Amino acid sequence: MAWRRTQRQPAILGEWSMDYQVGDVVRTRKEHPCGSVEWEIMRTGADFRIKCLGCGRVVMLPRPKFVKAVKTIVKGGAEK
Ligand SMILES: [Zn+2]
Repeated sequence: MAWRRTQRQPAILGEWSMDYQVGDVVRTRKEHPCGSVEWEIMRTGADFRIKCLGCGRVVMLPRPKFVKAVKTIVKGGAEK
């Protein structure tokens, strides 16, 4: 039984290790109350700090929560 749990971890780790970098812009599944879904990453690590591009609000999120919230990454505005 217990091993089944550890078997599931690689999938989670796969998401965990996704490449997020400071300066990247991400789109979240849920929109912010201001109507924007785009956020700029200001800090990565165990906690992420992201800034709403709609209203400029800065939010801190634990990494797992951030990873869940993000739908797509828009690399540093390079892919316009
Ligand atoms: Zn906002």
